[in-house]
Amino acid sequence: MPHISFTTNLLDFIARAPTAFHAVSSVSDILADRGFVEIQEPSPWKPLPPGAYFIRRNDSSLIALTLTDEKPALTGLRMAGAHTDSPGLKLKPIPGRINHSYLQFGVEVYGGALLAPWFDRDLSLAGRVTWQDQDGAIGSSLIDFRRPIGVIPSLAIHLDREVNKNRSINKQTDLVPIVMLMEEDRLPDLNVILLEQLARQYPAIRPSVVTDHELFFYDSQPPAFVGLQNEFIAGSRLDNLLSCYALIQAMLDSRTRQNSLVVLNDHEETGSLSGTGARGPFLQSVLERLMPEINDRRCCLSRSLFISVDNAHGVHPNFAGKHDQNHRPLLNCGPVIKHNANQHYATTSRTASYFRRLCQRAAVPVQDFVMRNDLACGSTIGPITAGEIGVEVVDVGVPSLAMHSIREMTGSRDGWYVYNALKEFFSSGGTDNGWPGSDRQ
Ligand code: ZN
Repeated sequence: MPHISFTTNLLDFIARAPTAFHAVSSVSDILADRGFVEIQEPSPWKPLPPGAYFIRRNDSSLIALTLTDEKPALTGLRMAGAHTDSPGLKLKPIPGRINHSYLQFGVEVYGGALLAPWFDRDLSLAGRVTWQDQDGAIGSSLIDFRRPIGVIPSLAIHLDREVNKNRSINKQTDLVPIVMLMEEDRLPDLNVILLEQLARQYPAIRPSVVTDHELFFYDSQPPAFVGLQNEFIAGSRLDNLLSCYALIQAMLDSRTRQNSLVVLNDHEETGSLSGTGARGPFLQSVLERLMPEINDRRCCLSRSLFISVDNAHGVHPNFAGKHDQNHRPLLNCGPVIKHNANQHYATTSRTASYFRRLCQRAAVPVQDFVMRNDLACGSTIGPITAGEIGVEVVDVGVPSLAMHSIREMTGSRDGWYVYNALKEFFSSGGTDNGWPGSDRQ
């Protein structure tokens, strides 16, 4: 069963990517191993010969490109994207506090996290630290403690008998992880703790002080197959590292090389407005440098299709009424095309039809989702990218349960399905039955 080995590798990728920084680092390693050449943004760009390239920004977003000897202005680009970030708990700048002999680390809530599942988890800590050496030079390194170092214990039911009826969570006071038991009332130096971790991971560098950090707590329990017949996978950050992995593998495994582009954006969970987010200039600036002539760029984009891949809501058997009766995606029944009349998803009848045909060719089932009218619809990078660069977009994603929990769930076949549909996309050459690449009717 080929989906088992694909999904096993997916779980391994997710386990090694506790933060957006680590995800981009892993993707960069995968691409470099397969011959992709990294281009630096601070250097001037010469016209790129046919080949495979990638560009990183802020260590947390990445664009991968494959180019043929045909001009993208004539062929269009097979474009697709996903996001690298996931909701979570980010360490505050000065996090330490001692409370009744416990050392606790204060956190900010990043994105729209489902908070209750964060209690009673064995939490580890990872992210990026910036440091200075004895000569004053500044560097940044990714760190990952890998083992559990913190926990947010629940309050015992005996101390709150009403907890199962009406519990609310105060983000400032209820969610502070405990990381240590103190014998004296003197705060340990976070700088020393981080320097020790740097020394463990990077014996060759000699930082003298950690000047700042972007660190996130994460669940140290790795993702896993679940179910009597391994029908499911459960783990952190399935939204949206599953899509990042499927996209990159599909681009790498395409049967023929096409003019293609994959963008992995940070900061989707906070609205995408940043230098690395979909509402920022990253993609636009790469397109400008790839095609400096505005006419080339406009021709290319009007011949291109962008597949925005982000997890969708599968129907939950205990809460089936939360779905529209005709739009209840099931796990292991293929990727979901997401529709929204108010442009929270950018799918059109044209783009949806193209994606359906890709799925048909790849022998992949496909489903549809629209939100109930009496519930607010989420969104993703698809409509934002459409708004920023004017490309036609289809929003799709694997059906999942427990979205934004610290442990989410999807079908164990669905990553494989979306990978195969995307592989078909990146493999299809020429004008391929009309689009992408054709003159508009
Ligand atoms: Zn998402």
